Amino acid sequence: MMTAARRRFCTMSGHLRRLILPVFFLLASCGQSKPPVDQRLIILGFDGMDPVLLRQWMDAGSLPNFQKLAAMGGFQSLATSNPPQSPVAWSDFATGTGPGEHGIYDFLRRDPVSYLPDFSISRVIPPQRFLSLFGMKLPMEDGEIINRRLGTPFWSMVENNGGRSTVLRVPVTFPPDPIHRMMAGMGVPDLLGTQGTYTIYSTRPPVSSTSSGSRSVRMRPDSTGHIASLLEGPTHPLKPDGPPLSSQLLLDPAGEKVRIRLGDADIQLSEGEWSDWITVNFDYFGPASVSGIVRVYLLSSYPRVQLYVSPINIDPREPVVPLSYPAGYAAELEARFGLYHTIGMPEETWSLNEGHLTDHAFLEVVQTTLKEQEDQFYDALERHDSDVVVSVFVQTDRVSHMFYRGIDPLHPLYTDTDDQARDAIHWIYREADRVLGETMQRMNPDDSLIVLSDHGFAPFRRAVNVNRWLADQGLLALENGKLESTAGFASVDWSRTRAYALGLNSLYINRSGREAGGIVGEAEAARIKQQIIASLSQLQDPQTGEAVIREVFDGAVLYPGNANGDAPDIIIGYEAAFRASWHTTLGGVPASLIDDNNSKWSGDHCISPEAVPGVLLTSFKLNAPIDSIRGIAAYAGQYRKNSR
Ligand SMILES: [Zn+2]
Repeated sequence: MMTAARRRFCTMSGHLRRLILPVFFLLASCGQSKPPVDQRLIILGFDGMDPVLLRQWMDAGSLPNFQKLAAMGGFQSLATSNPPQSPVAWSDFATGTGPGEHGIYDFLRRDPVSYLPDFSISRVIPPQRFLSLFGMKLPMEDGEIINRRLGTPFWSMVENNGGRSTVLRVPVTFPPDPIHRMMAGMGVPDLLGTQGTYTIYSTRPPVSSTSSGSRSVRMRPDSTGHIASLLEGPTHPLKPDGPPLSSQLLLDPAGEKVRIRLGDADIQLSEGEWSDWITVNFDYFGPASVSGIVRVYLLSSYPRVQLYVSPINIDPREPVVPLSYPAGYAAELEARFGLYHTIGMPEETWSLNEGHLTDHAFLEVVQTTLKEQEDQFYDALERHDSDVVVSVFVQTDRVSHMFYRGIDPLHPLYTDTDDQARDAIHWIYREADRVLGETMQRMNPDDSLIVLSDHGFAPFRRAVNVNRWLADQGLLALENGKLESTAGFASVDWSRTRAYALGLNSLYINRSGREAGGIVGEAEAARIKQQIIASLSQLQDPQTGEAVIREVFDGAVLYPGNANGDAPDIIIGYEAAFRASWHTTLGGVPASLIDDNNSKWSGDHCISPEAVPGVLLTSFKLNAPIDSIRGIAAYAGQYRKNSR
């Protein structure tokens, strides 16, 4: 069934929920009368776990639980999706189908009308109808959230067969599916509706020009050092055209420390210290408010104060959008284990990449998210009430992205890394091993365990500006003799452009009747596509003569069905060490063709799928081979030994 998951949400229901939640818990506990399930299928995902690194550290003896599991059932590499990106691969995993059927082709899709990048995983549509009254706009309908992934995930098949599923933080599960229990993962926005916007407060001029994921606020202390500033929050629900809601932020010197007053917190932090969670209520009408949670990190103390404020996570106690199913599950977890990150991508990768956080501060966040998810996962295992339990830990992927420079002697930053950075990936694999051990301890003798990753990892040393290549080939034209363009194709002349690249592996033909400024008809499109596939496949790095690309794929061949209509015309499968540049992902056209990757984001997997397979380990011998991540769903969807 090709339907997108849609959920309605109400923007003003916080107070109502507070009244309803206790009743809900009562009803939920009444419904749990089934006997405990003792033959479960447990699926433990480690995003980005690489078979070569895993084998190397298993052989070295530092991953005893992986060794134990491999001896019980088996250990093999697992073919990934094409392209090998997490949202694509986990959608293959969930549905047992490819992108042509589930509709997720890349982290980013392009809007064929504006040519601008758009998040391809989920979409939040605010209320469209309002009643204007006393200068306010009262929403006359609920907003809507759409998971762009189509098809039926295996956890729903399990339930259709009479079983129960618990699914925790699997990417592309927002809004959560109506199953026994689900906590949404990648796709959940922050309170601003973005995928994670952090804020840097500084008495100095902004550190660097703000990227789309960050805000920079200049602070001006008075003669005592006192600083009064504001944390800007979400749009005013009743005045969507007015200024955003905000909350006061006060800083004062406190010896070596800094006193920070924000939301419900009055705390003192030392340099290099994270706060606990702070609840910030953004008031908008009488007692009505929107609640968010943040953590702050003191980058530097007086006289040159710099404070980092994390993305404003949606408060699981009063979520403005559904974070879990049932809706009250998110609050129930908070009541048991305390506040936790709710945003879909909580690890602060971009702030580390931009130099706004240190390696150490980043790794502390990883430790925190790991602990939060472990609490939730072990709790789900200890309930013994689901036939299938799935949890995906993404920390392995995030640490591998940011610290590949520590294990790749050819990366430009290799010589700058310290001991902690060099050990970081090995450390997160040891942590994964510990999580695996904890999981095995909680298994019944008749439980089955699958451990898998969605893809492996490769070095990322050289960044390819695909739109520069297209311009050099005469396929992409810039306005009035300009030589380059900023993101969003700002200076591209669409009336003379035949092809453009956007996203991590995607390339599109500027088709008439499809793109707003399309000029290429059907017959010419086929010819241009073959021309690009043939010549891009031959691309060499001008610096070294190395082959840049392993294979260029025809989207029409890869994606029969073209679900969502979003299928790229061409998918680029880079060789290891190369990847699309950040300019390419956002539709920029720089002057150079290939640049050194001098940033901490030093490992990647958005390349040829053959170069980055994932892993599969099982606690049992497989009856039939599972060769690719797409094969898990057929096995897991039929798992209902204990269904009653
Ligand atoms: Zn990744």
